[in-house]
Amino acid sequence: MTEFARRILAWYERHARVLPWRVLPGQGVHPNPYAVWVSEIMLQQTRVEAVIPYFARWMERFPTIESLATASEHEVLALWEGLGYYSRARNLHRAARILLTDHGGQLPTNLAALRTLPGIGRYTAAAIASIAFGKDTATLDGNLKRVFARVFDVSLPADSPQGEAALWQLAENHLPSGRAGDYNQALMDLGATVCLPRNPRCLLCPVRELCLAHAQGLQEQRPVLKPKTEIPHKHKAAAVIVEQGKALLNRRSPDGLLGGLWEFPAAEVETSSLEAVSTAIHSAYALRVIPLSPMPAIRHTYTHFRLTETPWLCQLDGSPSASSFCWVALPDLVSYPMGKVDRQIARQLVSLLSSSRS
Ligand code: SF4
Repeated sequence: MTEFARRILAWYERHARVLPWRVLPGQGVHPNPYAVWVSEIMLQQTRVEAVIPYFARWMERFPTIESLATASEHEVLALWEGLGYYSRARNLHRAARILLTDHGGQLPTNLAALRTLPGIGRYTAAAIASIAFGKDTATLDGNLKRVFARVFDVSLPADSPQGEAALWQLAENHLPSGRAGDYNQALMDLGATVCLPRNPRCLLCPVRELCLAHAQGLQEQRPVLKPKTEIPHKHKAAAVIVEQGKALLNRRSPDGLLGGLWEFPAAEVETSSLEAVSTAIHSAYALRVIPLSPMPAIRHTYTHFRLTETPWLCQLDGSPSASSFCWVALPDLVSYPMGKVDRQIARQLVSLLSSSRS
């Protein structure tokens, strides 16, 4: 075992975070593979503190792969609402159905079979195989990249193919045989609690004496990342149409951003004139609307663009023809899974109509 791995494991034995999907070191058993899988998917791009309540609700409602596989997508997305990156929920659901049909409702134990499942890439497969099945597989997420780039002073950009290859190699070179699950989780914890992106807590670090970046005062310059490009700013108008106490919602196509979620019909606009709103909604949905008045604009930042969306109370001219449309009674809006922007529009609408009645 390398000195790096020995120190990491010794630190983990004393400082492992208590997490609902985790079995602490020294217990001699592996955790529930399904719980490990769900937690690893939820933790992608998401902080542990945000994941914990979602994980608890998920495991209560879907305690087994079979219960997830037999649920409706509507229910799966509703439970995921607010966690973002909804393709993760759709992929969990699809993968559960495949597991039920092809694998007897169990996760396969080997890397190659795990990687055939929707939403499971190299990192997640290795994390599941090592943590849940005790396989000797190294893994590498953002936290681990940062630790390796600092300790071993990797100056190649960590988000370049060459940088990633060098970091994977380091993770593999130091993997302690028979302890991969603890080693991977120890590195996840070290990156999340000590080797922080800014102001790493080097005084508390178990590998400080080995850390080349610390020795040179380069902690803040590692990992090296490719320069970020400016993300575009989009402007959209949403048509908020209410008839007889029901709002018109559209179900987004199953793939892509916010796939399968419900939305108020919305389209990109260059200006927010009445004519521009009406034309944009018509060309996106074949829906004729007469914009009446704007509601407060909503701003949100996605990974690849910033959005300012202005909801418009509109009158419908004709009737919607596509089967993706649905009239939803206002009190039921809460049970239709939506992204953050549409949820805010729904809340604005309900409070606007209730204040106009009182
Ligand atoms: S010494 Fe500092 S920079 Fe190096 S691994 Fe530890 S916390 Fe990170």
